[in-house]
Amino acid sequence: MSERSTKALASVSAETRELIRHILEHLAATYGVPRLRRDRDPLDTLIETILSQSTNDRNRDRAFARLKARFPTWDAVRRASTREIAAAIRVGGLARIKSVRIKRILQEIERRTGALDLSFLCRVPLEEALGFLRSLDGVGPKTAACVLLFACGHPVFPVDTHIRRVAARLGLIPQRCSDERAHQQLGRLIPARHSYAAHLNLIRLGRDVCRPRTPRCEACCLIQYCAYAHEMGKV
Ligand code: SF4
Repeated sequence: MSERSTKALASVSAETRELIRHILEHLAATYGVPRLRRDRDPLDTLIETILSQSTNDRNRDRAFARLKARFPTWDAVRRASTREIAAAIRVGGLARIKSVRIKRILQEIERRTGALDLSFLCRVPLEEALGFLRSLDGVGPKTAACVLLFACGHPVFPVDTHIRRVAARLGLIPQRCSDERAHQQLGRLIPARHSYAAHLNLIRLGRDVCRPRTPRCEACCLIQYCAYAHEMGKV
């Protein structure tokens, strides 16, 4: 277990640790234990994550593939007009906003590091890597955490809209809290070695079962541990 994880878990009560252990075990029994691929490039992952905003995985992947097919290098994207970038990523939605964001981020990375290569993020301490990513315009806690977990295997836990909803219903975070707080709180609760599997499995639960308007609690593997299900008399 990493130092961060050990210190963080020390501040979590034994009862909460036990609850998290049960939740992770039930998720793994239901959805399996996905393994992290070790071949992702951090800059590719950053751009992919920006493209994933407000769209589904399929359209994100199509937008990313078209961007890569249209421009041979990230430097070519940096030098392209936002209109050209937007045309390439249109299928992913919000093309104008995302094209401006992508170009600005590429310009900023080039200006600050002299290259369009973020592989150094995997070699520096986590806080430094987080600080660099968060200082880029338009990169919030989820995007930074996605890059550092997926591409570098750093012990961080990205919280997307599905995870937020599920975690709030389970009673792990308040119903209303900032993105920063949701990341801090769940980052403390989820042991680092479970970050990747917990991230994917909670998203899956959120999409398939714990839906925004009509959660299917009767089909949920976490019903016995869920504050919402207890409050609603479903258990
Ligand atoms: S029991 Fe219901 S509200 Fe709780 S996590 Fe499962 S689907 Fe969501």
